[in-house]
Amino acid sequence: MTRPRHIAVVPHTHWDREWYDPFQVFRLKLVATIDGLLDQMEQDRSYTHFLLDGQLAVLDDYLEIRPENEARLRALTSAGRITIGPWYILMDEFLVSGETIIRNLQAGIGRGGDFGGVMEVGYLPDMFGHVAQMPQILSLAGFEHAVVWRGVPSAVHRSAFRWFAPDGSSVRAEYLVAGYGNGAALPDDAKALVRRLRSLDEEFDPFLRADDPLLLMNGTDHQRPQVWLGRVISEANQIQSDFELAISSLPAYLDHASEIDLPSWHGELRSGARANLLMGVGSNRIDVKQAAARAERSLERLAEPLSALFVPADAWPAPFLELAWLFMIRNSAHDSICACSVDEVVDAVLHRYAEARQIGEALTDGALAALATSMAIPGPVVVNPSSRPRSGTVEVVVTAAGEPGPDVQVLSERFGLPGSITLEGEAVRNMLGLIQGARIENDAYITDVSLAEDETGLDITVVIGTEPREGVPVEEIKRELYTRLTARPDTQVRLSLDQPPVRRILARQEQVPGFGWARFSPSPLLHPATLDGDADRALTLGNGLVTVTIDPVDGTFSLNGKSGYGRLVDSGDYGDTYNYSPPAVDTIIDSPESVSIAAGDRGPVRATATITSSFRWPDHVDEHTKARVGSHLVVVETTLEVRADESVVRVGTRFDNPSRDHRVRVHLPLSEPSSTSSAECAFAIVQRGLSAEGGPEEFGTPTFPSRRFVSSGGLSVVHEGLLEYELVDLTSGDVRGDGVGGDQTEAKAAALALTLLRATGMLSRLGMSTRPLTAGPMKPLEGPQLIGPIEVSYAVGVGPIDPYQMADDVLVPLVTTASFGGGTRPDRGSSLTVRGAEVSAVRRHEGQLEVRVFNPRSTATSVEMPGRSGRLFDLRGQPIAAFDGQFDLHAHGIATARLDEG
Ligand SMILES: [Zn+2]
Repeated sequence: MTRPRHIAVVPHTHWDREWYDPFQVFRLKLVATIDGLLDQMEQDRSYTHFLLDGQLAVLDDYLEIRPENEARLRALTSAGRITIGPWYILMDEFLVSGETIIRNLQAGIGRGGDFGGVMEVGYLPDMFGHVAQMPQILSLAGFEHAVVWRGVPSAVHRSAFRWFAPDGSSVRAEYLVAGYGNGAALPDDAKALVRRLRSLDEEFDPFLRADDPLLLMNGTDHQRPQVWLGRVISEANQIQSDFELAISSLPAYLDHASEIDLPSWHGELRSGARANLLMGVGSNRIDVKQAAARAERSLERLAEPLSALFVPADAWPAPFLELAWLFMIRNSAHDSICACSVDEVVDAVLHRYAEARQIGEALTDGALAALATSMAIPGPVVVNPSSRPRSGTVEVVVTAAGEPGPDVQVLSERFGLPGSITLEGEAVRNMLGLIQGARIENDAYITDVSLAEDETGLDITVVIGTEPREGVPVEEIKRELYTRLTARPDTQVRLSLDQPPVRRILARQEQVPGFGWARFSPSPLLHPATLDGDADRALTLGNGLVTVTIDPVDGTFSLNGKSGYGRLVDSGDYGDTYNYSPPAVDTIIDSPESVSIAAGDRGPVRATATITSSFRWPDHVDEHTKARVGSHLVVVETTLEVRADESVVRVGTRFDNPSRDHRVRVHLPLSEPSSTSSAECAFAIVQRGLSAEGGPEEFGTPTFPSRRFVSSGGLSVVHEGLLEYELVDLTSGDVRGDGVGGDQTEAKAAALALTLLRATGMLSRLGMSTRPLTAGPMKPLEGPQLIGPIEVSYAVGVGPIDPYQMADDVLVPLVTTASFGGGTRPDRGSSLTVRGAEVSAVRRHEGQLEVRVFNPRSTATSVEMPGRSGRLFDLRGQPIAAFDGQFDLHAHGIATARLDEG
């Protein structure tokens, strides 16, 4: 070691906005903390810097209560004494979408601009691991540095490394070897401080080169500034010469940080080697993960693109979307989306997701209505919210003229009402009382109404259609009628009803262009869906592309002849919200006590069957014996669905969860054994093996997160918020080849387990079999037990499948609306064509269309946008290059394009 060792002390606080206390409780402490910080920094010039946790949310949360202190705060941030941002919130990276990560960063940078700009460091202190593309996201926002803690593997043995994204872009990552609190609670006595430094120096020496400075993070969770810091540092510098201390900021420290001989790391950081990764948060509170998936989809895949493409530019609903995104970003906080929080916090998270989704759904309805109004010809219209041209199953209501035809499936039929009736006296008032608004029942709405009067009586004409129409004067006509009846109480009222017979049908819509629309037009079914067999022996769903046969004995199903899909495995979980942990004495229930199967739809567009299985699940894990005790009879209902011309099987499973302390997974066999899985994460598909690196404090649990899909061994699974999977049923990895040589075969998995539910009763627990120490307060919680109704959905496919396409087909299907005509829009068209890359976002930015794409492949691509020109921008809104019709995108690259209008 070179003496003196430079010690950079960075005072900070780590502010979990909500966690073991609700937001408002923590905020009270936040306000006191920042009140004290402002006083301290204004009065004590030796307290030169403070890091406000890398997230702007704390600043807004403070100013909501103390708006009068904005100028004081701005003076300190503008002077660089308080460093802020770059994030709006310190999110979890695996459990939210890539868009949420980018919007979070942009929100932080944008808000930071009001306070003199954000810290130029990708500060990621407490995230439960890091996604592979984070170095690219940071680079695209102009950052050269990241600061990380959890997830760094044992292979990294320096306090810094060069961290590469799949596209080859990289940042220098400062590794907080012992976390963001290695210098928390420094003593106020200089001699004691020097003793502390000697021990820290010894601890960190293996990770430092001789002349590397030591970074001392002086703060921890919700910690207030230590007011004696400036004084004790100055005194410590005077009494010894081994260490030279200075209060610093992260940017100032990193300006001089070593770049020499840094080890490299490529891809995601998910190791538990030296810090808890908290490997079970993806399956904790699946209700929260489902709500997140639905809200993300509602905003990213429907509301934004449909509003951008079908609503006039000057009607872009920016304030609604900003509010919805604020909810999404707040919820992405690591303790919020991970739901390792008290129940009141999770209630708030669910409420924010509901509001974000509601905004998304309302905006989607508005965009579809705008499209419908603009159509030239009346009738059902099918809209494709994805970039891929595609067909798909739609449900529409059509007038029932003639026979339905061989390619549609009739769900319900209603015949027309008698043409005219004559009413008098009370009967009129009774009828009027029954009409409330324009809706009569499902598929029946008053779409026009008129009133005429002559000396013989009153004539009301009511037109009934299949879709609601805006502005129908039902209530006005009712009032008018009452007025006239009061004047002529004995007059005759003649009612004419104009209602054609209608059918609600399922059909396979002909191909709709990407980001386009087409009038409803059923296509001939090349592979009609069928349901064969009888419920007592076996039922088979199929369409010539896929065959599903249900086993009436064990309730599983076979897929193209391979059996064992859908096996439910219930086992104990004596873990906590952070980690799965099997109880000492586990009981595994993997076969039902009874099974019944029932036929549903019989095709030709959709065939369904329902499996009802009864299991006997234990009640809970006994505190003393650590065994599963008690028993409940639980009825699990699983519906399988095969659609015409699709090779995917959709699965929906429902049950009323009666049991505590357990995990329920569904096992799905791989087509061929495999030792790897490919899972979607932010802007990439990442490869993983059969094991996870653990350490002395958290043992490696090879459960991994996937965002919307995971593939392995020829099996692809798309799910709605069921983020956790594991490759299971391993064959031995140590089989000798010919008995002579030393050939070793790699271990392989035969199935993928998808977690449907993980129910536990403690925020954190001590002495677990997978994690001996606590990860948070040991609070008992009721919420994570998820007692009550559980409803999950996923889809499986085998063979060569583009998982992005499968995810779009299952999660973002074609949507329908109904037009009354009268506009100018043609029967069919596209508002935007994007080829050659996946589309992550379509929205408006200051009036311009903005499209974000990424290339999930390991070869370069040409992103084609025929007829469109514009510029590529980085994530700070700085122009990179102009393009016309197409631009090149390197392997695994992310690009943001803004399009010229007109
Ligand atoms: Zn935290």
